[in-house]
Amino acid sequence: MIGAEVVMHQPSLSHLSAQDPELAALIEAEARRQFEKIRLIASENYVSPAVLEATGSVLTNKYSEGYAGRRYYEGQQNIDPIELMAIDRAKALFGVEHANVQPYSGSPANLAVYMAFLEPGDTVMGLSLPMGGHLTHGWPVSATGKWFTPVRYGVRADTGRVDMDQVRDLALKERPKLIWCGGTAIPRTIDFAGFAEIAQETGAVLAADIAHIAGLIAGGAHPSPAGHADVISTTTHKTLRGPRGAMIMSLAEHAAAIDKAVFPGLQGGPHNHTTAAIAVALDEAAGPGFSAYAHRIVANARALAEALLERGYDLISGGTDNHLILVDLTNKGVAGKPAAQALDRAGIELNYNAVPFDPRKPFDPSGLRLGTAAITTRGLVPEQMPRVAAWIDEVVLATAREDDKELDRVAGEIRELLASYPMPGWAPAP
Ligand SMILES: *Cc1c(COP(=O)(O)O)cnc(C)c1O
Repeated sequence: MIGAEVVMHQPSLSHLSAQDPELAALIEAEARRQFEKIRLIASENYVSPAVLEATGSVLTNKYSEGYAGRRYYEGQQNIDPIELMAIDRAKALFGVEHANVQPYSGSPANLAVYMAFLEPGDTVMGLSLPMGGHLTHGWPVSATGKWFTPVRYGVRADTGRVDMDQVRDLALKERPKLIWCGGTAIPRTIDFAGFAEIAQETGAVLAADIAHIAGLIAGGAHPSPAGHADVISTTTHKTLRGPRGAMIMSLAEHAAAIDKAVFPGLQGGPHNHTTAAIAVALDEAAGPGFSAYAHRIVANARALAEALLERGYDLISGGTDNHLILVDLTNKGVAGKPAAQALDRAGIELNYNAVPFDPRKPFDPSGLRLGTAAITTRGLVPEQMPRVAAWIDEVVLATAREDDKELDRVAGEIRELLASYPMPGWAPAP
C-alpha cells in the first residue's frame, strides 16, 4: 500500500519510497495528517508545489559563501542570479532599499540584527515573552537575553494591547540601543509609527520583527514598518507562505553592517535551495491572488473570533486585527495544555500558550493560540468559522468534563469537511 500512497506527494517521492520506504511512509503520513486536520497553528501554512520543488532541488548541492559577485567558491553562474532575484523581489514587495535573504531562519536573522547594531552587554528592549514577544527579543534563556542587557515592556491589563506609554517611559529611563517591536502572540495591529517616534526620541535603533505578519503586510492587510523601522526581520514560512527561512531588510545605509553580520559574522554557506524557494514565494506574494489571500486570512480570523466570543470565550484584547487569536480558557475551567491535546485528537491542531499576566506556568499555561493562515490556504471562508468555533467549543467543554467520547466524532466530521478542500503538495489516492 505504501508504494501506491507515496506517489500522492507532489513533487513525487518515488525514489525515496523505493530507497527508504520507512521514511517515505512517515512523510506520506505527515502529508495525510496535514490534509485531515484543521491546522490553526498561527506560525504554520501550506506552501505551493512550486516552493516545494525549489526547496527539493539540486541547489542544495552548492556552496556559495559570500554575496553575488564576491563569493569564496567558484561555479556561481546560476546561484548569483537566483539570489539576486530573491533580493530584488523582496525589495520590490516590501518597499525597502536592502534585503539579505541568507539567514537560516528567524532566530539566526534576529541574532544577526544584534550583531549588526549592538555590542555584547548593550541594552535591548522587547515585548516580554509571556506577553507575546519572541525568545530572541531578550528573553533570559535565549543567547539574546544572556549576552545583552534586556529590558521588557508588556501589554496593558485592561486592553491586552501593547502599552505604548510604558514603552516610552522605559526607553527614556533605560536608553536601549535597540528596540524590538513585533512578536509571536500579538492579535492586534503593531503601531510602527508610534514605535518609530519613541526610538527617535530616545536614540534607539528600531527593529521590526514581522515574522508572523509578513504575508499580511505583503498583501496590504496590515500596515508596513517600511519607512518607520531601521531594520526589519522576518521569517519566510509563516503568513508569507514560503520555505523555512528568513530575511533582513533595511535602509541602504545599514546594508554593509547587516550583510557582514549574517556572513561572515554568524553563518557560512547560504542554503541556496531555500533562497530559490524564497524567490518563488516572493513572486507568488506579488501575484494577483495574494492580496485577496491576505485579506481573507484576516476575515477568517475575525469571523472565528466573533464566533468564539459568542460562545463565551475570553479573547485577549477582545478580538483580532490580523491572523491570530489568543484565548484565555480560565472561565471554561480547563487549562491550555489539556485543551490543546484534546483538540489535536479531535482534528484541530493548535498550541497552548501563555496569556498576559498568566498565573499558570509556561509549560501548563491558561491559553490557546490560533491562526488562520493555513486554513485560508485550504480555501475555508468566513461563513465556515462558526462551525469551526462550534467544534472547538464542543471539545473544550468535553475536556472540562474529562469526557473524550466526542473527540473521534469531531475528527471524523472535520475529515469529511476537509476532503473537499485541496492541499498544495499532496492529494489523497483517487
Ligand atoms: C517565528 C518567529 C521567530 C523565529 O523564527 P524561527 O524560524 O522559528 O527561528 C522570530 N521572531 C518572531 C516574532 C517569530 O514569530
